[in-house]
Amino acid sequence: MPKISKKAAQEILYWAKRAYGAKMVPGTSGNISLLCPVTKTDSAMLLSASGVCLGDMEARDIAVLNSEGKVLNNVKPSSEKLMHLEIYKKRPDIKAIIHIHCPYATSFAVCHKEMNEPILPEFIYNFGTAQAGAAIDNATNIDNKALRGIPSAKYALPSSIELAQEVSEYFKAGNNAVLMENHGLVAGAPTLKAAFYILESIQAYAKTYFAAKFLGEIHTLNEEEVLKIKNLKG
Ligand SMILES: [Zn+2]
Repeated sequence: MPKISKKAAQEILYWAKRAYGAKMVPGTSGNISLLCPVTKTDSAMLLSASGVCLGDMEARDIAVLNSEGKVLNNVKPSSEKLMHLEIYKKRPDIKAIIHIHCPYATSFAVCHKEMNEPILPEFIYNFGTAQAGAAIDNATNIDNKALRGIPSAKYALPSSIELAQEVSEYFKAGNNAVLMENHGLVAGAPTLKAAFYILESIQAYAKTYFAAKFLGEIHTLNEEEVLKIKNLKG
């Protein structure tokens, strides 16, 4: 069993509680992982245990796995371990993953509706939109799938290798967050803090979209405004 730093364990517990507090992981849903370097070339994966509520998670609820998915301590890992492993394999820059079932964003996944309408500048800046992605592709001649909002991966049985492969392909294409049809949402980033902020921002988009739909007509920004926002990145 590799030596895992106390700091890494504390970090995963902190962000698990933040996710629960933000109502992203009701009940015992959702899971969270963090890569922890053990040698110069290899990392262990710390992953929340199977059936644990992230809000009540303690150090004894952290499973430790090697890069092949073998469990190195006596904790049963979340059943979504394959999805976490596949995303890490396909995106070496990602070191932290949070998977959530928050009702507003999951509603989009239930309706098989991607999040790509140009309604909020901050969201367009961070995740793009369908139109912005296409316009930038035309201008640059690059098929940049990561600029088209939050895509929705086809439904596959939770915990299955099919789901892991389906979802991780979107990460391979450059997305940092992916909806999972009839299931939920997953985000990956270099740190748990960054992954949490991605999810919080998506959750805000989903809530705003619902409230705006209820309130009246949704006004989208036009292509020119969208491109100006994307160009803010320089
Ligand atoms: Zn799930």
